[in-house]
Amino acid sequence: NKQVILVSYPKGWVTEDNFRIEETDMHLSLKPGCGHVLLQTLWASVDPYLRGRMQESKGGLYAQPFQLGKPIVVRAVSKVIASDNQEFHVGEFVAGPISLGEYALVEGGQGLWKVDPNLAPLSYYLGLLGAPGLTAWVGLNLIGEPKRGDELFVSAAAGAVGLVVGQLAKLKGCRVVGSVGSDDKFWQCTFLLSREGYDSIQHLDRYFPQGIDIYFENVGGRMLEAVLNHINLNGRIPVCGMLSGYNQEWTEREGVRNLMNIVGKCVKMQGFIVSHHFYHLPTYIQEVAGYLKEGKIKYKEHVTEGLENFAKSFIGMLKGENFGKAVVHVSDP
Ligand code: NDP
Repeated sequence: NKQVILVSYPKGWVTEDNFRIEETDMHLSLKPGCGHVLLQTLWASVDPYLRGRMQESKGGLYAQPFQLGKPIVVRAVSKVIASDNQEFHVGEFVAGPISLGEYALVEGGQGLWKVDPNLAPLSYYLGLLGAPGLTAWVGLNLIGEPKRGDELFVSAAAGAVGLVVGQLAKLKGCRVVGSVGSDDKFWQCTFLLSREGYDSIQHLDRYFPQGIDIYFENVGGRMLEAVLNHINLNGRIPVCGMLSGYNQEWTEREGVRNLMNIVGKCVKMQGFIVSHHFYHLPTYIQEVAGYLKEGKIKYKEHVTEGLENFAKSFIGMLKGENFGKAVVHVSDP
């Protein structure tokens, strides 16, 4: 069984040397009574939060650090190939966290949920119909509280979460403007903004003459500072992530100098963690699978072939090379 092992914690930017591929023996049978499930990995999810787990101490982050010398744990879509668990049967498809390898043993079937291959392509359960999509829904609806006619700005708009935010907000009747890091990512966004461009304040003026009611925050740093100068009275900022600082020590990150706008404009700025809202997932999937079928929502994936290229795909995503949800195709069912 080929697995992806974390061998060192990155200092600053992640490099391929932080990982190694290791072949280990694996018994493909289960002891009766153990309750475990054995999976064949089909698709592995490549997510920014993994960077936060690749550090010695938890710091201000919400997930435990990965252990060195052990496989990293990622969300995946898999096929059940052996099961001693009444809930999961051989041949079924499931999503959930696994120790990343061609095969994975999930003790007690913990964290797994069944997915329906007839509703959408299986990989979509890592993106549109999985945690990133639900993240967009939670941040937008529960914190952003969109109303028809609201002016909404979303950063990392062509990414796994951003693509869903933009489209759901349009369906709610908002006017949506998104920022992306390069020209060729221009897809459903109406506006391009270089992530380096500090002249963003001018651009925001041009695209938001009426100001911003909702800013869906994915990147932090200078972008947040620019947005705060354009936020409207009673504006809402769902804080989903602050990707621009993930490869920097926190003491080296960009400071935001104009937070006082939050006071003067009575802004609600609130962080959230999607895993606290997983109980909404079944309802969310029904709603969004409906939109998908009706053609009201589109999704895009950035597929990398082969488990051995997981590190490449992860580093590429952190550098903005992905257009749509970054996933690794590990095997076919
Ligand atoms: P994406 O698919 O959006 O991929 C990351 C994108 O971030 C890149 O493609 C790039 O887009 C952009 N980016 C990278 N570096 C920078 C930078 N220095 N400045 C600005 N943008 C940058 O990832 P996700 O959709 O999975 O994640 C988006 C955000 O949502 C992240 O902050 C993530 O941590 C957060 N998240 C939070 C969750 C929660 O529960 N709170 C759950 C899931 C995700 P571009 O080149 O276009 O700038």
